[in-house]
Amino acid sequence: MPGILTYALHYEGEFNKNSLGAVTEAARLANEIGGEAGAVVVGDGDDLTDELCKTLGAYGAAKVYRAKAPEGLAQPVVDAMAKVIQDEGYSYALFGGGLLGFEVGAGLTARLGAGVTMEVTAVKAQDGKLVAERPILQDSAIVDVSYVGEPGIIIGRLNAFDVAESGGGDAEVVDVDVQLEEHSTKARMVQRGESGEEEVDIEGADILVAGGRGLGKAEGFQLCEELAGALGGAVAATRAVVDAGWYPYAAQIGQTGKTVAPKLYLAAGISGAIQHKVGMQSSENIVAINKDPNAPIFEFSDLGIVGDLNKILPKLTEALKAKKGG
Ligand SMILES: Cc1cc2nc3c(=O)[nH]c(=O)nc-3n(C[C@H](O)[C@H](O)[C@H](O)COP(=O)(O)OP(=O)(O)OC[C@H]3O[C@@H](n4cnc5c(N)ncnc54)[C@H](O)[C@@H]3O)c2cc1C
Repeated sequence: MPGILTYALHYEGEFNKNSLGAVTEAARLANEIGGEAGAVVVGDGDDLTDELCKTLGAYGAAKVYRAKAPEGLAQPVVDAMAKVIQDEGYSYALFGGGLLGFEVGAGLTARLGAGVTMEVTAVKAQDGKLVAERPILQDSAIVDVSYVGEPGIIIGRLNAFDVAESGGGDAEVVDVDVQLEEHSTKARMVQRGESGEEEVDIEGADILVAGGRGLGKAEGFQLCEELAGALGGAVAATRAVVDAGWYPYAAQIGQTGKTVAPKLYLAAGISGAIQHKVGMQSSENIVAINKDPNAPIFEFSDLGIVGDLNKILPKLTEALKAKKGG
């Protein structure tokens, strides 16, 4: 039976939304190709209870494979998923994107010598097999990718797959005894935390004030937050600043982040790299503030302001507040 395996990340007794999207999608596709959806869960604490694992059945998982190993690290998940795929004969592994999904998917591909498609935005079933849709050429075209061998690895863009309860009952929980590879135990989880991903709906916001490396430091984002507050919008970011730890990953716009199309996208201290552009180029109005008159972002902005954002942003905020007050 052609099964589809996913990985469900959990934290403080709840499965992550991106993982639930992958489980939902795997179940929908498994149904179409006449297969079964399974989910691997990994943890070494007491919180991975039968009750919690069974809840994945509501999103369409028939079986949940529970492995005892450190949660939140990629390599132990690769070990667990490789074993389940080899023992149970799953034909596909599907991930909802996100940093861990990318890492686990890539590791699994290397481990099993599999075929992989990344940045997938949709998956369809054709003649009992899966075909992944992947945007190319700055998202100007979409190619269909099918697999010549098994397993096929599919890694979606972050939040590419919607979460939906399928009305299924409890999933069957199967304990898996995984022998971790030596290198899988080298990394250690020091601290886990929430990124506050759900607090702001960046994809739904009409106005985004996006900050880049030109803000100079993490505290620079206060300027963006104040302006976003005055405009009634939300704050977005480039990958450079997210990687630097200046702002949460959830706010990242671009090729490996979110794709947005607000009414107004105000980019402050952002150079306009192609990987950022693909995530925001469909915005209705793009306003850029950059001290470099030759910054690429000006090539696709409706309004460009050449100057120091440290002077311009506070003035804009002040003017907006004064206007509201008046
Ligand atoms: C595979 C891959 C995927 C990627 N995915 C993404 C992605 O999803 N999203 C993304 O954003 N990037 C992504 N990148 C990174 C991308 O290539 C750029 O490195 C990144 O977008 C640059 O971020 P930035 O504009 O903040 O920084 P920089 O390129 O360093 O630009 C900073 C800008 O600030 C200006 N500036 C400096 N000081 C001031 C000031 N005081 N006032 C006004 N302007 C000022 C500078 O003139 C400059 O133009 C990806 C890269 C790769 C290789």
